[in-house]
Amino acid sequence: MKIAIASGKGGTGKSTVAANLAFTLARSREVALVDCDVEEPNLHLFFPGSAVDVPVTTPVPVIDLARCTFCGECGKFCRFGALSVLKDRVILFPELCHSCGGCSLVCPQGAVGEVPRTVGRVACSCSLPALTLISGVLNEGEVQAPAIIRAAKLLAEGHPLTLYDASPGIACPVIETLEGSDACVLVTESTPFGLHDLRLAAEVAERVGIPAGVVINRSDGQDEATLDFCRERGLPILMTVPFSREIAAVQNRGGLICRDLPGWEERFAGLFDAIVRLAGVSQ
Ligand code: SF4
Ligand code: SF4
Repeated sequence: MKIAIASGKGGTGKSTVAANLAFTLARSREVALVDCDVEEPNLHLFFPGSAVDVPVTTPVPVIDLARCTFCGECGKFCRFGALSVLKDRVILFPELCHSCGGCSLVCPQGAVGEVPRTVGRVACSCSLPALTLISGVLNEGEVQAPAIIRAAKLLAEGHPLTLYDASPGIACPVIETLEGSDACVLVTESTPFGLHDLRLAAEVAERVGIPAGVVINRSDGQDEATLDFCRERGLPILMTVPFSREIAAVQNRGGLICRDLPGWEERFAGLFDAIVRLAGVSQ
């Protein structure tokens, strides 16, 4: 079973929910936790340990100048501005290349080949006996977040239970993370901004075709607008985490409430049961 944890905006506590859920589940079964927030991975802060790194490469074009006639077709085709054709040279801006392979297809001279280029890495560690943490890390200045996410998800293949922690927002990396998931947990907070971004995130989950439910984090008990929206859209409330100084204190020191506060392991186990019902798969 594959569960994605997402949020329309940053700072809602998405990674905290993912880490607590992973820790709770790892008490009784094998779990893979995949940090797909590859521009700013942070789950290793909850689960420190030595990691094995696997580099991630993507293909970029290389021009055979002996064949090239500087016709300009490849530069015209590349909508990312990664190729600039001058009268006697072709300049590649590799950090802009999205590895679509189109320049090679349109070249009438067969002058475009490909070479691998490292754009990031996947770090794999086992800080708990039953928990494998797989963190995607995109190199600074690179644009190919989806390639790192694909590599991280591939490394988790074969695990019976996998949690994907998506990046905040609704852009391509989130869609790449959600693809293939059985259920999506949308983490929100009951503020006007939170509700606005929950709407967008719910739409993305719907378009990708994944059943979604909501965790309301830092609830002050005034959740009516969020509850109305969820009722209207048929989104079940999977769990509510109240705003409390005790919880904030645990989280501020990088702790896990399911480990450090009584009763929360059971509540996260209940969250998992609710997700299983939502996904409609047997566990
Ligand atoms: S399309 Fe091929 S021949 Fe034309 S400029 Fe690009 S590499 Fe050279
Ligand atoms: S592979 Fe695609 S993105 Fe990269 S340079 Fe060629 S056309 Fe542009």
